[in-house]
Amino acid sequence: MEKIRVTIWNEFRHEKTKENVKAIYPDGLHATIKAFLDKNEDLEVRLAALDDPDQGLPDDVLENTDVLLWWGHMAHGEVSDVLVEKIRQRVYSGKMGLIVLHSGHHSKVFKAVVGTTGNLSWGRDQKEVMWNLMPSHPIAAGIPDHFTLTTEELYCEPFYVPQPDALVFGSWFEDGFIFRSGLCYLRGAGKVFYFQPGHEFCRSFYNPYVQ
Ligand code: ZN
Repeated sequence: MEKIRVTIWNEFRHEKTKENVKAIYPDGLHATIKAFLDKNEDLEVRLAALDDPDQGLPDDVLENTDVLLWWGHMAHGEVSDVLVEKIRQRVYSGKMGLIVLHSGHHSKVFKAVVGTTGNLSWGRDQKEVMWNLMPSHPIAAGIPDHFTLTTEELYCEPFYVPQPDALVFGSWFEDGFIFRSGLCYLRGAGKVFYFQPGHEFCRSFYNPYVQ
């Protein structure tokens, strides 16, 4: 069977500069994601980072990626517009799926592919209850009707994005706010998923349901 070729792109700056982030994700949060994805025999997973040559995504890597995961936060502006356009074209042509994580809502990639500002509100880290709003969706397979993240960054509505093609998860936060936390978009012939957990100071990528 042909394996699904996954590339996890991480800005990979906080983990090098902030001790408390390094303590949670010593090899970068992308390496933590790879460690659990590698348990799937049908996936072939590689890592890419902003400071790698060609910002981690030279043409031969991009052209051999079936699903791209994207995590960025402090350096969205450094990502090359040429690269963003190549990613957009590859998604729209149906050759690659895109999963945008957490603060990637403000990445050039998310904004260009989905067509949005990606603006939202945020607040202090707190308990989040993530609800499975679409149990029939493949992304929600095996997920209970809800699960709790002990600490995650508050993201809240209004989230200025187009109506999603599927709303898979919705979250409630301890301070009373709600957020659409798992959204699917069809763009061109491609598929996009935005998933909210993954603040660099929290441990969400160790949660089995997030994984
Ligand atoms: Zn964050």
